[in-house]
Amino acid sequence: GKVDHECEVLVLGAGPGGYSAAFRSADLGMSTILIERYSTLGGVCLNVGCIPSKALLHTTAVMDEVKTMSKHGISYGAPKIEIDQLRGYKNSVIAKLTGGLAGMAKARKVTVVRGLGRFLDANHVEVELTQGDGQDLTGQKEVIRFQKAIIAAGSQPVKLPFLPEDSRIVDSTGALLLKSIPKRMLVIGGGIIGLEMATVYSTLGSRIDIAEMMDGLMAGADRDLEKVWEKFNAGRFEKIMLKTRASKAEVKADGIAVSFEGEGAPTEPQTYDLVLVAVGRTPNGKKIDAAAAGVVVDERGFVPVDNQMRTNVNHIFAIGDIVGQPMLAHKAVHEGHVAAEVAAGEKSYFDAKQIPSVAYTDPEVAWAGLTEEQCKAKGIAYEKGLFPWAASGRAIANGRDEGFTKLIFDATSKRIIGGGIVGTHAGDLIGEVCLAIEMGADAVDIGKTIHPHPTLGESVGLAAEAALGHCTDLP
Ligand code: FAD
Repeated sequence: GKVDHECEVLVLGAGPGGYSAAFRSADLGMSTILIERYSTLGGVCLNVGCIPSKALLHTTAVMDEVKTMSKHGISYGAPKIEIDQLRGYKNSVIAKLTGGLAGMAKARKVTVVRGLGRFLDANHVEVELTQGDGQDLTGQKEVIRFQKAIIAAGSQPVKLPFLPEDSRIVDSTGALLLKSIPKRMLVIGGGIIGLEMATVYSTLGSRIDIAEMMDGLMAGADRDLEKVWEKFNAGRFEKIMLKTRASKAEVKADGIAVSFEGEGAPTEPQTYDLVLVAVGRTPNGKKIDAAAAGVVVDERGFVPVDNQMRTNVNHIFAIGDIVGQPMLAHKAVHEGHVAAEVAAGEKSYFDAKQIPSVAYTDPEVAWAGLTEEQCKAKGIAYEKGLFPWAASGRAIANGRDEGFTKLIFDATSKRIIGGGIVGTHAGDLIGEVCLAIEMGADAVDIGKTIHPHPTLGESVGLAAEAALGHCTDLP
């Protein structure tokens, strides 16, 4: 058949994994084509994920902080919310970043083909071209022949089959559109994405209920971190219903009437103006005709890979959300680099000792490496060092001393194997813990590192000193 383009490396999907892989591939001298169905690069993360959520969370965090200033003798009036302008700000942040990516692709001579790609065989992809702002198919098709391919087709929100189709029932993408501020909102799913959006909308004035099937929020975080978050946020939400699932929903004139089952379930259905479904994400593996290329996709839609990001087909790689948990942008980026390097013939491996997680809520909750629960479950003997922010001059000066910093050390080797931080800026602070774990630092290395005073970052050094039993900033 006819071939419209040829390349050494074809990358399918332009999220953080895909664009990172394509840029590294081009930097390594390989001719590279990047296929993306949407009009902008950046995937979920830049367009409908990490970045827009943080633009909104920053705004609402400032709103919340301003309210506390009256305690310092500074008073402001009630906020006046111009929702169109707030949406515009969020969109301008996305535009700046996606525009930057387009420029970077061009500078590297990465060819971007806009359309929906599917494999024809192990060396050809067919792309149905798309147009408009979104993903409108044109019916026009192009065929690309490649030597190597990197699958980076990402994931999408899980749907709850019993929910009716209604504009008031949305996923994270719909919630980020910020169409209006609902009076009453239900968030189904108490994971990071659900809690971040609940934080934004509650500050904007919505009364919010959260339903979570498990017995705790923020699965994956150490329980003591989450407890601090929960205590601080006790007044923020109307009901946090644990061990509870939404079981039925009816579209009514005055809202969506939702019934619940489980320990926290109210007896009556509750009516909401907006229902956010945030119950997880599912990989796009079944939508790319991977079988035509001989690439194995498991029953859930994940593409299995080895530690060089190779699928079962030697010259086809896969990266990012489509290869498995944790579905996080920074994991996708690093995997993308490995795939491109291996495609170029380098001996690269994805062998990270840790992949950090952050809930950018208020306070933030961040963790890296092993949690205490994981150590216990795996039977790893550990020691810990804890520094409560109630003893941090900076946290007290900031008026936010509810948090703590915890480091976890292997009891035998004394090296750091994990850490968790809850408090303002925890997401930025966890970076030092990540580096310490990768470098195999022990408590002496961290404790003897001079940290600037007075900072929140100091709490990492002080937690290490606490682990050594000689923190002079603690009683
Ligand atoms: P994606 O970003 O999913 O990109 C895949 C791309 O491939 C998409 O652009 C899609 O259009 C395209 N595509 C798929 N199939 C085809 C096809 N057949 N043809 C052409 N194009 C195709 N992660 C963090 O690390 N930090 C955060 O703060 C964070 N916040 C988040 C907040 C929200 C609300 C959400 C939803 C996610 C968040 N994430 C966050 C997760 C993060 O967005 C993902 O882990 C990341 O985007 C995965 O990158 P990826 O490259 O694997 O795929």
